[in-house]
Formats: sequence, C-alpha cells, structure tokens
Amino acid sequence: VAPWFDRAAETMPVAERRRLQGHRLHQLVERLAGASPFWRDRLAGVELDRVRTVDDLGRLPFTTKDDLRAHYPYGGWAMPREAAVRIHASSGTSGQPTIVGYTRADVRLFAELNARALVCAGATPADVVHVAYGYGLFTGGLGLHYGSELLGATTVPASGGNSTLQLRLLVDLGADVLACTPSFAMLLAERAAAEGITGLRLRHGVFGAEPWSESMRTKLEQAYSSLTGRPFTARDIYGLSEVIGPGVAMECVAGPGALHVFDDHFVPEIVDPLTGSPAQPGDAGELVLTTLTKQAMPVVRYRTGDVTRLVDGPCPCGRTHQRIGRFEGRVDDMLIVRGVNVFPAAIEQELLADPDLGAGYALVLDRRETLTRLEVRCELADPARTPDPRPVEDRVTRRLASALRVGVTVRCQPPGSLPRTETGKARRVFVRVDDTDPLAP
Ligand SMILES: [Zn+2]
Repeated sequence: VAPWFDRAAETMPVAERRRLQGHRLHQLVERLAGASPFWRDRLAGVELDRVRTVDDLGRLPFTTKDDLRAHYPYGGWAMPREAAVRIHASSGTSGQPTIVGYTRADVRLFAELNARALVCAGATPADVVHVAYGYGLFTGGLGLHYGSELLGATTVPASGGNSTLQLRLLVDLGADVLACTPSFAMLLAERAAAEGITGLRLRHGVFGAEPWSESMRTKLEQAYSSLTGRPFTARDIYGLSEVIGPGVAMECVAGPGALHVFDDHFVPEIVDPLTGSPAQPGDAGELVLTTLTKQAMPVVRYRTGDVTRLVDGPCPCGRTHQRIGRFEGRVDDMLIVRGVNVFPAAIEQELLADPDLGAGYALVLDRRETLTRLEVRCELADPARTPDPRPVEDRVTRRLASALRVGVTVRCQPPGSLPRTETGKARRVFVRVDDTDPLAP
C-alpha cells in the first residue's frame, strides 16, 4: 500500500518546492492585484515584480479575520460569486460568520488535501472511513468526506451526534478509520467501554477542529487499543475555513509530535503576534498562512491566531513538507513577562512532565514593579517523597528558564492547595498588584 496519496508533491526536494512556491506566489499576487476592489486596495503600493520567492512574503500585508468580516459576505473574494460551486462558513463565535467560496478546482484541491491527510494518518483505499465531523456549513464533515471518497475508501457520512447509532455503525460496518473531534472520539470510547461493546476494529483516528494535548493522545490510543485489542494511532489534522478547511496540515503515523504543512499550496510563517516580525527560528509564535493556489477566496498572510513553531529536520515518513509543532494555544492567551511572550501551555508542558509535581498549577503575574514578573505556583505530587521542595523548585526554575527564555520564580505547595475551577475552563492566570496574595485561601 502506498504510504502517500501524491508522491511527487509530498516528497518533492525542498529546493524544487521553494521554486514552485515562488512561482505560484508571483502568479497569485499578479492575479489578485486586478481581482476585486478589496484586493486592489490591499496590494496598492506593493511592487508585484519584487514578489518572486517566499522570502518576499514580508512585502505583502497581513490579512485578519476582521478584514474578511468587514467585507461580508463576498467582498473578500478574488472572483465573482458566480465562479463558486460551494459555500462554507466559519463559526462566527463573535457574531459575523466568514463566508468562504470554492470553485470547482478549489473543491477538487480540498478533496486532494484531505486524501493526503487520511493517508498520512494511516488510511488506505481498502478502508472504511467513518466521518463523524459535522456536515454542513462547517468544513470538517464535507472536507474529510470528499477526501475519503477521492482516496477510494468506503466513506460513512455519519456526521455528529447520536453516539448509540455511531457505535453501532462503527461495529457493523467495520470502520478502520475514525475522523472526528478528539472530545467526541473520547466520548465514543467511554460509552463503548461502559456498554461493553465488542467488535470494534478501528486502527486510526484523524482528530482535529479543537486543540488537544499529548496526554489526550495517550488516553485516546489506550482507550481504543483496549476496545479493539490491537494498536490504534491518534493523529492531529489542522485547518481553518478561511484557508480551506481541514487538510492544511497533518501529523503522520511515523512522526507524531509535528504536522506536515501541505506547503505546495499553503506557505506557513511564524510571527511575533505583537510586532508581526518573524519569530526566531524554532520559537513559538502566531501561525500565518498564505494560500498559493486557491481560486475563489485566496488569503495572503492570514493571521490564524494559533500558536505553534516551525520544526526542522526530516520526518521518518519521507515527506519533505515543512513541519510545525502541535498547537500550543491561541494568541489571545499569551502573557508578556519582562518583554518576552510567554504561552501558558508551554509552562504546563514543563510542569506536567516533572514526576515530583501534581497536575494543579497557577500563574501569578506580579505587577508590583515596572517590569512584570512571573511566579509559577505548583503542587507537589507527594510531599512525603519530597519533604524539602527546594531541589524541585530549583530544577523546575531551570527547566522553565530554558524553555521560556525568561526568568521565573517557582513555588511548590501541598497537593490540593491551589484553587480549582468547578465549571468551564480552568482559571490559571492571576494578577498581583499589591501585597495581597491573589491565591491566598
Ligand atoms: Zn511524516
């Protein structure tokens, strides 16, 4: 069975792909400059002849979700509405949705990218692929659906909800691959275990549309392995409707921990979310994407709001696409400590990896002086094992200083002594402005 869907594109030598990207980028800006009032306006003043390689992306302006919202519904497109054969919409968490359009070629590209992603995750044309992402304006269901059909797999358009029916179909139709959100996958696994359901034969999960952690991967892989009695791999699929939908980037079976960006179609950049300047190589920052080949609604340097970093070096699978790390959070969660951008998820990762620490932690931004200081409060896993917490604090301080590149203070407390959030998203960040400890009971 072929380990890729499109070998030439996925294993193209890096230098050759760079030439292809430069060529496509130049064609894109030439096309956009005359495409619509929106694009004429945005590219006014750009010397199009000097946009020849991906290194010239910095000459182009960013595009934000607000830019697209301001031109609702069709104003941000590069073609007349009549050119589109399909519409999707982004979930409008803050009111106005964003309407995205696809020409026939865009629909075909969308399917190809999802076929690539499915193969990355381990799917083959002989498989039954159960798609439990929502079908509709949301891109998840139809994206994976047409990708699976193009791959040649037997595609089950289950859509979301109704876990009883979903479990029955998964067993009766013999699904090999499950595509849905990681939280729904976990719910299905828990119900299957609780109801003693047997006969599942799932081997691979294609999980996305919400951020999920390495510990969630471990839980999902263990849950499905114990249900099926065989190995199960959970892999992360990334995309956003403003760019195309799922299939922008995908983790492969061989190299978990980073996602291949299908960069013959989407060029990734990582920028400092405050200044917009390129992040230092390997540093975390905001993912910015440019679509090279989309027709109806291309985006140039689209600010995704998602935080990740570039991952260099070859992947064992043989794909040569630029990789990015698993997502570390949203730009909205970013803290600024002594002028350095700090992402809470990066702190959590270091804390949860320390065997002497429990899962509870809190971050205190100390603003009593001009330069904000960060105090990390964590809970000891077992005070009997570490009666003197200072060696633990010293070790965690060093690890955090090297991971975050800014000095922090670490204080360990007894288990259960930090505040717990009963409902909703856990509150982790507290601000200190006077001598009152915001975490005092
Ligand atoms: Zn790979």
